[in-house]
Formats: sequence, structure tokens, C-alpha cells
Amino acid sequence: MKRIAMISLHGDPTAVAGYEGAGGQNVYVRELARNLATHGAAVDVFTEKLGGTEVSAETFEPGCRVIRIPLAMPRQVGRHVFWNKLPEFLDKLADLWSDFPRYDLIHSHYWLAGWVSMRLARRARLPLIHTSHSLGRVKVAAGFALPNATERFSTEEMLAKRSTIVATNRFEESQLRQLYGAQSLALVPCGFAPRHFKPQNKDACRRSLGLRRHERMLLFVGRFDPNKGIVELIRATAALAQNWTIKLYLVGGVRPNSSDKAEYERVKTLVDELGLAGIVQFVGAIQPAGLARYYSAADVTVIPSYYETFGLVALEALACASPVVASRTGGLACTVQDGKNGLLVNPGDVPGLVDAISQFLMNPDLAQRLGKAGREEVLRTYTWQSVASRMIQVYDDALDSRVLQDAQV
Ligand code: UDP
Repeated sequence: MKRIAMISLHGDPTAVAGYEGAGGQNVYVRELARNLATHGAAVDVFTEKLGGTEVSAETFEPGCRVIRIPLAMPRQVGRHVFWNKLPEFLDKLADLWSDFPRYDLIHSHYWLAGWVSMRLARRARLPLIHTSHSLGRVKVAAGFALPNATERFSTEEMLAKRSTIVATNRFEESQLRQLYGAQSLALVPCGFAPRHFKPQNKDACRRSLGLRRHERMLLFVGRFDPNKGIVELIRATAALAQNWTIKLYLVGGVRPNSSDKAEYERVKTLVDELGLAGIVQFVGAIQPAGLARYYSAADVTVIPSYYETFGLVALEALACASPVVASRTGGLACTVQDGKNGLLVNPGDVPGLVDAISQFLMNPDLAQRLGKAGREEVLRTYTWQSVASRMIQVYDDALDSRVLQDAQV
């Protein structure tokens, strides 16, 4: 049995996603761990514990534990504050490991955990596999202000040399090569959970959400973050509402004193200014098991992000056979193939959004055909089960090449 140490500093696998600080990474770690365990692995996920003083361990799926290590920090801090806490996390983790059975390898998530994991892997002579979740140089190129940019770039450069880096799509793969000179690359996509994401009866779902027969439903699922393009979607909705009876459901949570609260306020102000209060529904965060109802009811799921490294929401919507309009960016442009299983629009292009959404609203046959093609495609390639089998192959290759290296010493 393989024993895997996952290090996901700020990605607790049990967190409800859809808030600042809890999104795709949390889902990825949870579902990958769960499905690795069904392939016979034992997975321990090490993460931070904000508040409290004791290390705690919890089994979150059969064969998977999360071990939370307390850091002396206030709750709900931005990720950038973690940079100063990395040596503390490393020391506490190293102490803890002396009481744990030996692991076969480390799989780290995001550059902060990568910093810690490179040091642990060297000390314990273990292979390191790393998933970036997002890349600093790419974010800067996309116009984001990046805290700790210098430290992040150099950590990501080291990770590209000292670990097997997992690229989740061809686009990320080429960025890792071109921007970071990565050589040991493995291409393993993200996945979706078929137990949660499958088409449900559309009429029943619509009724349960309170939609009337003539109302057309647009759906957004994700965190309130300027990168997600919600403001642009609101502007597109205002234009569409001139020709259609529209309802836009925004699924995603908001916490007080957080950056998602600030973005929520920006969106809400615009909704009120444009007179869309009766059209836009702020649903709040929904657990994964409850999301298929929304995807199945939607006439169009819109993913108007400025940038996505992968974009799990696209997979989930396609798995529910929802027609998808997404931005032509990052992983979205790999998962969604324009005209084949969805429609792509340039990021920030409000008239483009209006046009693409209108195509689906005007042509239900097209919507149904592309939605069906989307489900077939994601079932073929992207279940977490198949992702986990591919990841096990990556682990085996990393273990084999370490055996070879050891033999050459
Ligand atoms: N999500 C959720 N409930 C919500 C909103 C989002 O469970 O109310 C989940 C969503 O289903 C997806 C994840 O959060 O699995 C978001 O991942 P994605 O890669 O789309 O975006 P990220 O948050 O990583 O930017």
C-alpha cells in the first residue's frame, strides 16, 4: 500500500468551497485523496489550523485523514500572510513526522506548500510531486497584483526543477515549460465527481428553484472574486433582459470582512444601479451534492473568468449536460471546445457574452446538442477515478526514477 503525504497549507479538504480561500484546490485535494484511497493508497493531508493550539486529526473519507497544524495567526487572513509562517509550519510538520509511519512520497499543492515540501522531501529523501493550482508569472501577465511575487517566482522556479510537476492541461504544460523551464512534467487533468454531477430532470429542478415556465435561467457558480467576471456577466444580463425574461442565479458564498464581501458589494451595487434586483438571485454557497439541481435547471451556465488555471465549474456543468459559455482563457479553453461542447468568448467581452448566451437561448437544439456532447466528453476523460489512476502512474514513475537515481549513487 502506498502512503502519501499531501501538503496543502491552505486547502483543507473538508472546507465548503465557494468562499474566499476555499475553492477548486480544496475540492481537488479532497476528491483526489478519496479516489487514491479507493485505489488502495493511504493519504494524509497536512493543512493549517487557524485558531487553537493542538494538532488535530480527522478521517474525512475511508483511508484519508486531514491533520491540522496550528499556526499562531488570526482566522480569515489573506494567503499572503502565510509566507512568514512557512518556517513555523515546516518545523512543526517535521517534528510531527517523527511520530508517523514513513511515507512513500509527498504531493504538494500551491507554491506555499511547495516551499515547505521541497525542504521536507530533501530531508526525508522522498520524491516530490507538485500541483501548482495557479502560477505567479501567469497571474502577473494577466494583470493581477501579486503579494510576495519575488518569493513566489523563485519558489515556483525551484519546484519546476526539483519536483515532478503536474500540469492539468496543455496550456499549463506549455507555461510551465516556457516560463519556468520545467522538465519533469506529467499531464493529469482535474476531475469531477459523478456521484454529485449528473443531469437531473430539468423541469423538476426548475420548479424546485421557483422558476416560472417562461423564465430563462442563467447560472454562475464560484467565489466572489473580480477575476471571475461577475460584473461583466451582470452587464450582459442587463442587455439580455431587454429581449428575454431572464433570471440569473449567482451561487457562491460571502463572509463578513473578507475579499468576497468586497466583490459581493461591488456586484450588488451594480445590480441595483441597473435595476436588476428582481432578476439576479444571490443564492449563497451550496454544497457539491446540491449543485446538480442548479446546473440541470440552467439554460446556460456562464463562466466569464478573466483567468482559470483549470476551472472545475466547467467540468461540473458539462457533466450535468448544461450548455456552457466560458471565457477563452487558461484551462477553460482546453475543456470547452468552441462549437463542439460549449461556446467560448474572450475574457471581459460583454457583447460577446450577450451574443453567445443568446445563441443558446434562441436555439434550444444547439443547447441540447452541445450539452450532451459535453457530458459524453467529460465522462470519457475527467472522472476523479480516472484522474486518480493517472496520478498513481505518475507516483510510480517518480518512485521508479528515484530507485534508479539511488542505484547510480
Ligand atoms: N463550489 C461549491 N459551492 C459553491 C460554489 C463553488 O462547492 O457554492 C465549488 C465548485 O463546485 C467547484 C469549486 O468550488 O468545484 C470552484 O472551483 P473552480 O476551479 O471553478 O474555481 P476556483 O475556486 O479554484 O477559482
